[in-house]
Amino acid sequence: APLLSISGLSKRYRRQDPLAVENVGFDLGNGEILALLGPSGCGKSTTLRMIAGFEHPESGDILLRGKSILDQPPQQRRIGIVFQDYALFPHMSLGQNVAFAMRHLPKAKRPARAREWLDMVGLADLAERMPDELSGGQQQRVALARTLAAEPQLVLLDEPFSNLDAALRESTRKEVRQLFKAAGTSVILVTHDQAEALSFADQVGVMHAGKLIQVDRPERVYQHP
Ligand code: ADP
Ligand code: ADP
Repeated sequence: APLLSISGLSKRYRRQDPLAVENVGFDLGNGEILALLGPSGCGKSTTLRMIAGFEHPESGDILLRGKSILDQPPQQRRIGIVFQDYALFPHMSLGQNVAFAMRHLPKAKRPARAREWLDMVGLADLAERMPDELSGGQQQRVALARTLAAEPQLVLLDEPFSNLDAALRESTRKEVRQLFKAAGTSVILVTHDQAEALSFADQVGVMHAGKLIQVDRPERVYQHP
């Protein structure tokens, strides 16, 4: 069975609004990376927020390992989320930021494990530093380390590279892809950047006006106006 199976998902914010997400369905395999690609306002973030549990769909179902998670609150779903604005705690060191995610481990074990996660994103030497001493790309890698440290079943990325400058974006994207592939983590990436979707994902879902209009391998996805 797929890790995640979504069917007939729809969402309307206000009664007078059109559907923000309309009858969206797809499967995500273990260790697979799916990109949801489409212009601003097409329903990508709304889809992600329903998977995360921040929004409730008006119809449809979301199965994680074959079991509906619609009645589970966000913290029970063990789904990690990374947004474009890193959102590290500014008053905590990088090590403390990562350790904070490890509520499943005894306190005494957290600092060493935090260092291992920072090592995995190439930042082990910076555990004592504060977030504002780092570049945007480094902060984003710490945010990823913190997300992975919680050992999520699934990671959701909402435009995670869009605050990085172009040169850094490409290298960070490559490193992050390798990191997920090495960890065998399943990922859904939301982006409006076609090049990013095609280079990062194993499968690309093209969204338009709330609908998922195509899901296919990157080399088979063509541009929709
Ligand atoms: P995307 O992530 O593709 O930019 P969104 O999921 O953010 O698209 O938005 C889909 C539609 O839902 C848009 O028309 C947007 O204006 C609307 N929308 C998003 N969030 C809200 C909200 N909190 N309240 C009302 N409408 C919203
Ligand atoms: P994105 O397009 O990246 O999803 P936006 O910048 O459109 O994000 O929206 C940022 C925030 O504003 C989100 O929390 C979203 O829920 C909210 N939002 C978006 N569209 C609307 C809307 N039409 N009415 C109310 N809130 C909205």
